[in-house]
Amino acid sequence: MKFIADVMLGKLAKRLRLLGVDVLYEPGLQDNEIIRRSLEQDRIILTRDRSLSQRPLAARHVLISSEHLHDQFEQMLKTFSSILDPATFLTRCSVCNEILKAASKQEVRDLVPAYVYDRSNSFLRCSCCGRVYWKGNHVRNLIQSGFAEQNRKTLRGAGQTRKG
Ligand SMILES: [Zn+2]
Repeated sequence: MKFIADVMLGKLAKRLRLLGVDVLYEPGLQDNEIIRRSLEQDRIILTRDRSLSQRPLAARHVLISSEHLHDQFEQMLKTFSSILDPATFLTRCSVCNEILKAASKQEVRDLVPAYVYDRSNSFLRCSCCGRVYWKGNHVRNLIQSGFAEQNRKTLRGAGQTRKG
């Protein structure tokens, strides 16, 4: 299941990407372009714009009702329960939407904080922007708890850094 998010939904797009969901998000896209790409690439439109959602060619859409990330995320989970798959957590860059590749410890030595380097053995890297990701305690907890506390917490605990 793939999505395309409108300009209002950047934070939601990032959140979903951290869960491994494929979300195309380019703030500059006009409505016509969003519709065209949704049809071409078989993506469900996520929008806060009622007029866009009412366009006949935008039939496959979710009209996101809240302006708050917390409620937006909840609406997505209610609508698509299958997107919550711990197996896909942290498989995609939250910034580029690219699939992450495994990186060796040596490779990320100068790219992550020392305490992370010491404690973690498993790293992922985006081949597009160079960001390094690792499963911090918070993400591990989220996975173990089956996301029980998703309502109050964010995935901010997922570590990431820019290329040094
Ligand atoms: Zn990236």
